[in-house]
Amino acid sequence: MADCVFCSIVQGKIPARKVYEDTMFLAFLDIAPSNPGHILVIPKEHHETLLDLPEAICSKILEVVKKVASAATKATSAEGFNVMVNNQAVAGQLVFHSHFHIIPRYKRDGLKHWGRKDIPGQEMESIHKKIVSFI
Ligand code: AMP
Ligand code: ZN
Repeated sequence: MADCVFCSIVQGKIPARKVYEDTMFLAFLDIAPSNPGHILVIPKEHHETLLDLPEAICSKILEVVKKVASAATKATSAEGFNVMVNNQAVAGQLVFHSHFHIIPRYKRDGLKHWGRKDIPGQEMESIHKKIVSFI
């Protein structure tokens, strides 16, 4: 897609530190990492969010995420890692070409986890029913 930075990387128009590539997927270092070894795994096809990914991509991308996360963890001697997908601007998505973040983690690495809210039982009950009704 025109004006998509990740499509430009796929097409070789802009450089990236690639760590893995096959016919469907590409993985490269994030240019503004949260920790060393922060990697993005993308489908080569342009789709905006996780919900837009066709089944053929969806069913395979986690294999690539696992492969790359394993390599990143070994290479950085990380004690764990986060896998994260931001969907839509309100959730922090900046690049609208769906991608998985792999972030190596260490004790006391200073990264913050998202907060928690005290949701009343009645609201939990109602959101539970509502989500199940949409499944
Ligand atoms: P998100 O907020 O989930 O859309 O994340 C987009 C990520 O893409 C950010 O972490 C950026 O640092 C990263 N990014 C943007 N442009 C590039 C680029 N040219 N090469 C590598 N990573 C990039
Ligand atoms: Zn794209």
